[in-house]
Amino acid sequence: MLDSADQIGQERTTNDGPIIPRATDFAQWYQDIIAAAELVDQAPVRGCYILRPNGYFIWESIQRDLDARFKQHGVQNAYFPLLIPMSFIMKEAEHVEGFAPELAVVTHGGGEALEEPLVVRPTSETVIWSTFRKWIRSHRDLPLLLNQWCNVMRWEKRPRAFLRTAEFLWQEGHTAHATAEEARQYALENHVIYYDFLEECLGIGPIAGEKPPHERFPGAVATFTLEPMMQDGRALQTGTSHDLGDTFGRAFDVTYQGEDGQSHPVFATSWGMSTRTIGGVLMVHGDDRGAVFPPTVAPVQVAIVPVPGRDDASTRAVETAAADLKQTLTKAGLRVTVDSRPGLRPGAKFFHWERHGTPLRLEIGPRDVEAGQVMAARRDTGEKMAVPLSGIATAVQSTLDAIQMNLRLQAHARREARTYTVDTRAEIEETVLKGYAFTRWCESRECAADMQAQSRGTIRCFPFEKHGNEFRPIPNDPGPCGWCGNHATRRVLVGRSY
Ligand SMILES: [Zn+2]
Repeated sequence: MLDSADQIGQERTTNDGPIIPRATDFAQWYQDIIAAAELVDQAPVRGCYILRPNGYFIWESIQRDLDARFKQHGVQNAYFPLLIPMSFIMKEAEHVEGFAPELAVVTHGGGEALEEPLVVRPTSETVIWSTFRKWIRSHRDLPLLLNQWCNVMRWEKRPRAFLRTAEFLWQEGHTAHATAEEARQYALENHVIYYDFLEECLGIGPIAGEKPPHERFPGAVATFTLEPMMQDGRALQTGTSHDLGDTFGRAFDVTYQGEDGQSHPVFATSWGMSTRTIGGVLMVHGDDRGAVFPPTVAPVQVAIVPVPGRDDASTRAVETAAADLKQTLTKAGLRVTVDSRPGLRPGAKFFHWERHGTPLRLEIGPRDVEAGQVMAARRDTGEKMAVPLSGIATAVQSTLDAIQMNLRLQAHARREARTYTVDTRAEIEETVLKGYAFTRWCESRECAADMQAQSRGTIRCFPFEKHGNEFRPIPNDPGPCGWCGNHATRRVLVGRSY
């Protein structure tokens, strides 16, 4: 049975088609705005997507920002191979159980059947920990903090651009620590890094928290998650950090010699964020006119549209002013384009940049040149205002900052307006159709399974609150489980999800 939220919409092959309103068909709207902004194209292999320059630019921006945050946290980048021996994947029982159905396996190479099949990495814990075995000998080798930017494959039966794709781009961080406490602490610190990134760079307003045991990463002892709410009220799990305990250290026989001369187990974390995040940006910020990108990741931040005059002289004056304006703004470090495509009316150009999610449009015509100004149009609010050409770089930068902040606040406001504190089964069933239910849960797996079967809502997380630079669980609130009525000690976030 599929409810409307499971519809995946039809992939568009052209970028000039209509955009269906969100309220009419959210799934189709998502496909339409991806086509309109020219982010991906279909690949010959089902489930794989071609990232077009606009889509790839957004990923590069995400990469640049996150990479700097990781490095500040002491992480170094490395690269491990795409192919992993099947026997490695089999070494950790929960891990193999979790990934087996999604594996792509290479059986032939160089024209011959391979002695051992090779797995196209679904994630790299196994190959990395088999290597850590060689690299970690003494307490002086710890902590070991690595990250890699790469592609992974997880076979998808119901692919959807950015959200579920057979091959996707991501980063995977892998760290090794001397104690369980240190690994837990590192996973939590990385959770804060992800949260700050989603807030400051993408403005998608996630709820931070810990996954219940049955939703943990295969092999993890704790999984920390970020759950921004999409405009259809569903959650998109975006960026998880795992405390892996000594699961992989044991599976790959990694130990270190402590200062006491004794052999000790090694503890691990892993954490990943992928191109799925781009789907989150689209579904949190987009509107019925198309994508809306935060200035931080927008391929073009400012589109200048020259409006021709009645005669050649005034048109030339406009062109010169537009070129000067571009130069001024580019020098100020902004990503600017002048839309000088011939044979298109200004209105068609406005429409084009709107559909591409460009945060700010500057229109300049003969009268503006005379008045020493441009007309600025904000993509997020639709607001238009005249801006003097003198000091324009500062004015444009502060408008972009205002757009960035507005998108972030809007995401928060929407999420808060659709998060309901509820105490009964009927209320849970009703609210998960609109957004998040904040309810008590008895922490029984059977209860969660029943809730999911009946309401389609899943336990997203035990929410955290941020205190300064760290997360703490919200205070306990004992009472009856909102679903089954048994005793519960705390509230959880329940929602439908992608
Ligand atoms: Zn219950």
